[in-house]
Amino acid sequence: MSGNEYENSDVTDDDDDDCYDTYYDDTDPFQDDNNNNYTTNINTNDPEQFEYKTSTLNEVQTRFEPSTFSSSYIHTSSIPDICSICFKNQTNFESLVCNHAFCHDCWTQYIDTKFQYQNCINYECMKCDKRIPHNFVLQHLSSDSRKELYKKLVVKAMIQNNPQMTLCSGTCDRVFEAIDKPIPGRVECELCNLKFCFQCSLSYHAPASCDIMRNWFKKCRDDSETANYISANTKDCPKCKVCIEKNGGCNHMSCFSCNHHFCWMCLGDWKTHENNYYECSKYRGQPQSQLETIQSRAREALKKYLHYFERWDNHQRSLKLEEQTRAKLLEKIEQNINAQNGTYIDWQYLEKAADSLAKARYTLMYTYPYAYYQEDTVDRNLFENIQAQLEVEIENLSYQIERSTTHNRGDIENQRHIVERRRQTLLLKYFPKSNS
Ligand SMILES: [Zn+2]
Ligand SMILES: [Zn+2]
Ligand SMILES: [Zn+2]
Ligand SMILES: [Zn+2]
Ligand SMILES: [Zn+2]
Ligand SMILES: [Zn+2]
Repeated sequence: MSGNEYENSDVTDDDDDDCYDTYYDDTDPFQDDNNNNYTTNINTNDPEQFEYKTSTLNEVQTRFEPSTFSSSYIHTSSIPDICSICFKNQTNFESLVCNHAFCHDCWTQYIDTKFQYQNCINYECMKCDKRIPHNFVLQHLSSDSRKELYKKLVVKAMIQNNPQMTLCSGTCDRVFEAIDKPIPGRVECELCNLKFCFQCSLSYHAPASCDIMRNWFKKCRDDSETANYISANTKDCPKCKVCIEKNGGCNHMSCFSCNHHFCWMCLGDWKTHENNYYECSKYRGQPQSQLETIQSRAREALKKYLHYFERWDNHQRSLKLEEQTRAKLLEKIEQNINAQNGTYIDWQYLEKAADSLAKARYTLMYTYPYAYYQEDTVDRNLFENIQAQLEVEIENLSYQIERSTTHNRGDIENQRHIVERRRQTLLLKYFPKSNS
């Protein structure tokens, strides 16, 4: 940090709001937002905020235990002479409310064997379809460990059927409970390091809905052959044809040979990707009426899918590459601090910027499945414009972070706030809080 230009500045990060006020008019929904610490806590205005509480499977089991496992079974009123399964003279007959009586040993064998081999938690009477109560099952399992396992499976099934609750999609035994109405909100498990959707347990996917994502993943699986050829890490510079490898997340490429600035996605001139000119994210297909043959319609459908898939896939790659950039930044920060070149607080803005970038690119990635399934309506244009604005600002931030020097702290912080607001604007309008 040459000259320690931030040595005497107020570094609480609240000091620079004025710098970007000019970008926004009075209708900005976040004008009162003074807390810029987006990375460590969720801003109360953040449309992604979803409140839940966390407990463990054992705690939920303790809560459910009395009501779930206490109902007792009914002994038979008419006791037969011999058990119709083992044909032995028995004294210990048992039955459910259906009065189909069998000896205790036969019930035990039936239930215990079925549990041992199938981990079954739904049993019916051996003669009719009467459901066996949990308590009856527990009394016919042969060991305590099986009884415990059975209880666990029952509680898990209850959680899965309860819209207010969800299990961690990883390997831990955490249970998440919505405080208000359940929505496809973001749940984070620090134990498993996973972020997933409260309602469908897929990777968190705002602004797309759970249905969109199920359909999208199915489509990607079905069309994986077609999409494979897209996955290239190198492309030729559109001007001088030299081979260029993409090793950062940013789509704004500058050719090392001829210094031509172009877009990685469409290979177009980067000048056409600034602000209001940005068209790269929008799909412009042929009108249906002009597609006369089955083949032309199929070709058009494929073209449309590939447009969205390519952008979805590219953002996924960029996220990974930017993770590497972030790691390098942290290294650089540490080196600087060790060399007495500023303190952590002086350098924190870089880490924050990388966090905001990741968060926004993640949202942007999910706007492509959303857009793919969106009908051609007036709203589509509005959505595409908001999406395009987010694209522009994210690429600007990524570009700046990849080339960050000690001199562009102000620029990076401004850009981070712009990106953050663009992300929030998009989510505020399209996050399916109540219509999944
Ligand atoms: Zn028997
Ligand atoms: Zn029965
Ligand atoms: Zn977990
Ligand atoms: Zn979901
Ligand atoms: Zn070139
Ligand atoms: Zn482009």
